[in-house]
Amino acid sequence: MTPTDPLLDLPPALPESWWRARDGALAPVAPEAMAELRDRAVAAYLGLALGDALGATVEFLTPREIAAFHGVHREIVGGGWLNLKPGRVTDDTEMSLALGRAILERGGRVSARAAAEGFSAWMSRKPVDIGHTVRRGISAYRRTGVPFVPDNPQNAGNGAAMRCLPVALVTHGAPWPQVVRALRLQGHVTHTCALADAGLEGVAAAVQAALGAPRGDVTAVDAALAALFAARPEFAPDGKRQTDPGGFIVDTLRAVFQALAGARGFEAAVVEVVNRGGDADTTGAILGMIAGALHGTAALPKRWLKRLDPATRAACAEQALALIGFSPALSGTGRAVTAE
Ligand code: MN
Ligand code: MN
Repeated sequence: MTPTDPLLDLPPALPESWWRARDGALAPVAPEAMAELRDRAVAAYLGLALGDALGATVEFLTPREIAAFHGVHREIVGGGWLNLKPGRVTDDTEMSLALGRAILERGGRVSARAAAEGFSAWMSRKPVDIGHTVRRGISAYRRTGVPFVPDNPQNAGNGAAMRCLPVALVTHGAPWPQVVRALRLQGHVTHTCALADAGLEGVAAAVQAALGAPRGDVTAVDAALAALFAARPEFAPDGKRQTDPGGFIVDTLRAVFQALAGARGFEAAVVEVVNRGGDADTTGAILGMIAGALHGTAALPKRWLKRLDPATRAACAEQALALIGFSPALSGTGRAVTAE
């Protein structure tokens, strides 16, 4: 008997009132706005890589340790517990690139099996780091051929959200239930869990809101975040500053959303979140994709881009353009995103 994914066909986690209003307002991107959207997509992907490369230096340090070693950590210098070369990225960016490649090889379609194959090939290349839940999920796929893991509350890590950008880009402008299905197909390869799914939806909703927002207008993501907070109040600000976030999706996203709201500009927001320590490469990566989508490539610090590994930088830019090119927002009405 073929097992079925228990969470794939559940309704979206975000409230129906929010996504119906969103879907009702979907419109093709005007020709004069297309270049700006492509720029935002590239900035989101480079932002992910920059946040990863900056944060990796201080991953698993506390804010106090960061302050002692680095003052305010604001330069891409490598090192850290992985002893990285400056500009080297980690699993957050590498898994995104593996997923993006799997989607592009299928002409813009999101497939759980192709994602699982892509992640498995990445694991075979002996990545510099890999999360426990991710390793377990990929190993299970190799054993069983089933491209999703069983539902388990212990899967509420940030690993599916950290690599979701390719799906957010290729589904930009699609009806929300389609976006959600595509997000879950990639997410459930390693993280099948309703709470992780809610966080995943919140990140993609924020990225897509940012892509279409007036440049730099951080309030444009407020409705998407409010929808997540309405569905899952544990993500909402409660007056407590989230420092030292672990891999738990709730702690990760609380730190990200607090830093996003509290800082002005791309660099300030990414610096703010990685200096909170904990899973800093992943908070940096997630904040980097949202803030990149919001601010565009002109806001990315030149000194950071210069340090970023050149092959990574090129791959991110190339995938971003190809993925957003397949999106309903840019490819016109004839082409819907299909997920399988
Ligand atoms: Mn990482
Ligand atoms: Mn991490």
